[in-house]
Order: sequence, then structure tokens, then C-alpha cells
Amino acid sequence: MIFNAPGAGSDPSSPMCSAKGCRAEAVWVLAWNNPKLHTPERRKTWLACEEHREHLSQFLGVRGFLKDVVRLEDWEAAQN
Ligand SMILES: [Zn+2]
Repeated sequence: MIFNAPGAGSDPSSPMCSAKGCRAEAVWVLAWNNPKLHTPERRKTWLACEEHREHLSQFLGVRGFLKDVVRLEDWEAAQN
């Protein structure tokens, strides 16, 4: 996944929350891995706003998929 709008807010292309029907700006990155589909080092990512971080984390957590939850700005910094 590519994040091309660091530090956005007013930027229309700023990353949005992955929760269904939510169009809020993403603040969190949920890094996850499905061991049945992905190699161990692979990371899929979901984006979450403040409101949906808990909900999405639980969804992944109960399945044992959730690996990490980091702030979007920190995630982007770590990718460079
Ligand atoms: Zn949301």
C-alpha cells in the first residue's frame, strides 16, 4: 500500500479510514497478517480513524491476525 499524502488533513487524497462506510481521515495503521494466506513477514494494512481503531483492532485481534497498531505518521516515517 502506498501513502502519498503525509501529514494531510485538507488534502482530498489523504488516506481514509478502512471501516465500511466511514470517510473519516485515517490516523492509525493496523498491520496484520493472515497466516493461512500470507508468509509470516508479510504485512497487510488497514487504516483507521480514532473512532474505528478499537473496532477494527478487535476484528483482527480475535482472529489472531493483528500484528501492530501504529500512528499513520509513524508508519509512514518507518517506510522511508
Ligand atoms: Zn472510521
